[in-house]
Amino acid sequence: MESSEIRPERHDDSGNTTTVAPITCDVLVIGGGPAGSTASTLLARNGWRVVMLEKAEHPRFHIGESLLPQNMPILERLGVHDVVRDCSTLKHGADFPNDNGSYEVFDFGKSLRPQAGYAFQVRRSDFDKILWDNAITAGVDARDNTKVDRVEFGDDDAIIVHAEGQEFRPRYLLDASGRDTFLGGKLGLKRKNDRHASAAIFSHFRNVQRREGRDAGNISIYRHANGWIWVIPLADGVTSVGAVCFPEYLKQRRGDQEAFLMQTLMSVPDLDERMRDAERVAPVHVTGNYAYECSEMHGRHWSLLGDAYAFVDPMFSSGVYLAMKSAEGCAGMVDDILRAPAHEASLQRRFQRRFDSGLDEFKWFIYRFTSPTMKHLFANPRDFLGVERAIVSMLSGDVFDAKPVLRRLRIFRVIYAITALGMSGRAFAAWRNRRRQLGVEVREETLQRDAQ
Ligand SMILES: Cc1cc2nc3c(=O)[nH]c(=O)nc-3n(C[C@H](O)[C@H](O)[C@H](O)COP(=O)(O)OP(=O)(O)OC[C@H]3O[C@@H](n4cnc5c(N)ncnc54)[C@H](O)[C@@H]3O)c2cc1C
Repeated sequence: MESSEIRPERHDDSGNTTTVAPITCDVLVIGGGPAGSTASTLLARNGWRVVMLEKAEHPRFHIGESLLPQNMPILERLGVHDVVRDCSTLKHGADFPNDNGSYEVFDFGKSLRPQAGYAFQVRRSDFDKILWDNAITAGVDARDNTKVDRVEFGDDDAIIVHAEGQEFRPRYLLDASGRDTFLGGKLGLKRKNDRHASAAIFSHFRNVQRREGRDAGNISIYRHANGWIWVIPLADGVTSVGAVCFPEYLKQRRGDQEAFLMQTLMSVPDLDERMRDAERVAPVHVTGNYAYECSEMHGRHWSLLGDAYAFVDPMFSSGVYLAMKSAEGCAGMVDDILRAPAHEASLQRRFQRRFDSGLDEFKWFIYRFTSPTMKHLFANPRDFLGVERAIVSMLSGDVFDAKPVLRRLRIFRVIYAITALGMSGRAFAAWRNRRRQLGVEVREETLQRDAQ
């Protein structure tokens, strides 16, 4: 991106041109989702002057409603745990239904290491607004309806951010723009993840049957012939239901989006039963081909956070946690960099190494989740050497600085390999089918256009 000395101009009521003075700050954050609000709050609390720019206006709809137990300490540290709890459903675990109508529960209370034995299912419009307001309370200059449209990197190391005719000059830039991947796109860093191409179609419903008792707030994760399905019980009797599908399947779609969504959900007999009296209460949304990563997480005086850095399939509800975890870690790193700029590169490298290693744990499971081998192992869990408890820990998000958990997850990988050998015929057929499905591209625009 080019450097420029041109000042933004405004026209006053008499038509005269005036030059708008640039706003200087320590940190500018693009995007006011969970990653942006978390990083902004923590940096402002440390005394830095933080500006956060959000193109939408809170409250606004967003997908990503199921949190993990490892989110809970972050909510505590932000001081919003109780207010989030009061508008959420309590989630004690994740359940994975079997073909015979029964289901296996991975209860967060059975983790390998002590942790909050619960999480929340949240309406993102409420949740993101709570985090946004919390950032304002911490002293962040948070501006919504303010879209960042351009960033320049000057020869003198200056970063100039342009938004709605205003110019900002931060010492450090954080991109938390989510799947818009503002900086990753502009700098050509974004890489589609070929190992996991999929798309999602989803909506909100009333009258979806919930599980009984302690399981009532569980997320249910069904497999269907062409991907997987989530069922997330929200507050006020509303349930979020969505299908993640391989591109080839979505390409076969005929008719309207709702019919396609319902046909996919009804293909699973147990879910068909749970949704017998369901009534849709929100539009049907479609999200196209969506797994990607950026080749760099940091550059000189800038970093990418949350979905602006990487997006993996949300199968294990890891997105919001990873966004907030990366934001918390990044806030600490930026704090160090602003105090000791000479250490910037090494601090950035250390942060990325640590974050990527946690992300890789999720990816390993996600890539294999729809395989017959994983289906078999999840349907027959055994706590051999603490492996099942380690899986619960992984499902809770306990994958950072978690040696005891990671050791047992390695044992699970061995068990997986041996089991796959024993099922080699089916495993190979599934692998070949999957390669074929990944070969087909479905673009979001195509999906939206077809839906009209
Ligand atoms: C189908 C689906 C299901 C999912 N389910 C789950 C789940 O159950 N649990 C879970 O944890 N995660 C889930 N996720 C993932 C979750 O949505 C994301 O990981 C999470 O929202 C990332 O937070 P973020 O702050 O990085 O980005 P976002 O929440 O996307 O926030 C980014 C913000 O930046 C703003 N922005 C973008 N561009 C600009 C710009 N140029 N200028 C100013 N502002 C800008 C946007 O308006 C937005 O508010 C799901 C994702 C999908 C697609």
